[in-house]
Amino acid sequence: MKNAGAPIRFGWLLALLIAVAAYGDEVIYPGYRWVSFGDGLFLHSPVNPLAGPVDSNSVVIVTADGVWVVDTHINPAVARAVIDQIRRVTDLPVTHVVNTHWHDDHTNGNHAYRQAFPDAKIIAHSATLAALRREWPAMKAQRQQAYAAVEAGQILAAADKLEDEDQALGYRIYAGYVAALKPELSGMELIYPDMVFEDKLEFEAGDRRLIVEWLGRGNTDGDVVVWLPDDKALITGDLLVAPIPYAFDSPMVDWIETLDRLAAKGAQTIVPGHGAVQRDNAYLEQVASLLRATVSAVAEARKNGIPFSELSGAVDLSSYEQRFAGDSAEAAYAWRTYYLTPGLKSAWAALGFPLPD
Ligand SMILES: [Zn+2]
Repeated sequence: MKNAGAPIRFGWLLALLIAVAAYGDEVIYPGYRWVSFGDGLFLHSPVNPLAGPVDSNSVVIVTADGVWVVDTHINPAVARAVIDQIRRVTDLPVTHVVNTHWHDDHTNGNHAYRQAFPDAKIIAHSATLAALRREWPAMKAQRQQAYAAVEAGQILAAADKLEDEDQALGYRIYAGYVAALKPELSGMELIYPDMVFEDKLEFEAGDRRLIVEWLGRGNTDGDVVVWLPDDKALITGDLLVAPIPYAFDSPMVDWIETLDRLAAKGAQTIVPGHGAVQRDNAYLEQVASLLRATVSAVAEARKNGIPFSELSGAVDLSSYEQRFAGDSAEAAYAWRTYYLTPGLKSAWAALGFPLPD
């Protein structure tokens, strides 16, 4: 009986390998995969979006006039691997890079693109450029300083000794950052966007229309989406993140309206800022529903006189936790760390209630 499951497991593995090959799934950098998701449309993404370093998706759009890249990864080495892969796919240069927002998991790779394609335009919202100027140098310096003092191996060894599962997961994610970024940051220049806009830019590149658009505040002040009307494909940046949304300092009330505008696009393909490609609005609507539930639960708690310090005990979003995180300890950690704790604070602030100092 002990080995009875083996042939079945092998069968599944074979089916999986065939399925992967059929969809052109390729590994061009360890821990990531390169997938075609439409005609001339490619996604390079972490295999596990919850593992460290937490990194963005990067989308490659091939047009007859050149290549567009949306978001450039946290690690310039990964961006260089994507550039090598672009050169295998087409002889055309990268002409445009879009930074959907300022967070460095979407912008650190800009340097690799500037080096490889000096003429490429880097597009972002004006609020993104302002935030990059304000935040990016300090963020880079902080990472360099923190990572200089540690080795990834030490952190992983320490994680193995921890009894608290959440804490151990946090350590492992951190080790991923150290391993990926420590060798890269000293040689990385901060390359800022040089084509900045407010509301909308429309392009015709060969046979393709591309619209870069600001649809409202959400994850940050300056999130932009890329809409390909002919493909009905929408690239959302971190306005939408799967499987667990990020809610750090998010203007929650505005964010709900922005998601409604995304849903109204009628996209058939949605590429979130992190996580798997969606083929309909279902996940987007699930996130919008979560945000609505969070805002109304926080408003209700406040009405009942609950102070901010007791908010997490008073708000019950466990049915949503089950829907988003399921039974995965890793996803539950992400739910608490990236959504619930920062999200309650964001909702409280978005409703105009005073935060304690
Ligand atoms: Zn991100």
